[in-house]
Amino acid sequence: MSLPHPIVRLTAPNPGPFTGAGTNTYLVGERALAVIDPGPGDETHLAAILQAARGRPITHILLTHAHRDHADGLGRLKQATGAVTVGFQRAGKPAPAAASSPSGGDFVAWDFIPDVNLVDGSQINAGDQHFEAVHTPGHAPDHLCFAIASASSVLFSGDHVMGWSTSVIAPPEGHMGDYITSLQRLLPRPQTFYLPGHGDAITDGPRTVRAYLLHRQMREQAVLDAIRSGEGTIDAITDRVYAGLAPRLRNAARLSVQAHIDFLREKAVLTATSAAELITQAS
Ligand SMILES: [Zn+2]
Repeated sequence: MSLPHPIVRLTAPNPGPFTGAGTNTYLVGERALAVIDPGPGDETHLAAILQAARGRPITHILLTHAHRDHADGLGRLKQATGAVTVGFQRAGKPAPAAASSPSGGDFVAWDFIPDVNLVDGSQINAGDQHFEAVHTPGHAPDHLCFAIASASSVLFSGDHVMGWSTSVIAPPEGHMGDYITSLQRLLPRPQTFYLPGHGDAITDGPRTVRAYLLHRQMREQAVLDAIRSGEGTIDAITDRVYAGLAPRLRNAARLSVQAHIDFLREKAVLTATSAAELITQAS
């Protein structure tokens, strides 16, 4: 699918069960460029970014969120270009939690400190474009989507809304309640053409968002049904809700069940005691 001017997409060579075809890097601008998500630390991808710039300066690097598949290439790209880094500053590194990664590895780039710190609604000139940041926590607490003034239908949606799969919500990094709220926040916005961190462009963004919301509602109901029918551990609930799942996706599924239970507890649908029991039994 061809992208609206002045946007170019490069997909990094890091395909996998959690990255689809790979992480998307976007170059945005005409005479001066902003790069959204440098992608993983991969020399061929870095070379592809520099080549696609065709000698035009890359003045800014915008990060949708500090997960390694989006952020690890940032240091080398900054070194090569002198670009200013832009993102949402995390409050700090939490205590390491067991089994917090859906893929089993360390996936958060804790060392990322943006030169320019954005919050919800921040506006910034980057390259020769004007960007607006939309804070969309849920997949990650620091997640930003970006709108641009020159292509008013476009939203860079990062891993909040993706073209190939639903987002992984893995506590403590992910938070289901925040995620649902962040999805709902996109619906009234004027942007309808989403360019995600993984997968192809989404031509009807709000329709996808509504499908995501419905999907989460059905999962939540399935988790609740499993609990009410007597399943007492995260593993047992996961077996029931995600029957027939590929083993490599099991940890992500368990974390997603955990995220739903946390959210049900926050909404007081589950009592604090019963949810605490479930979580303790599972860990
Ligand atoms: Zn990603």
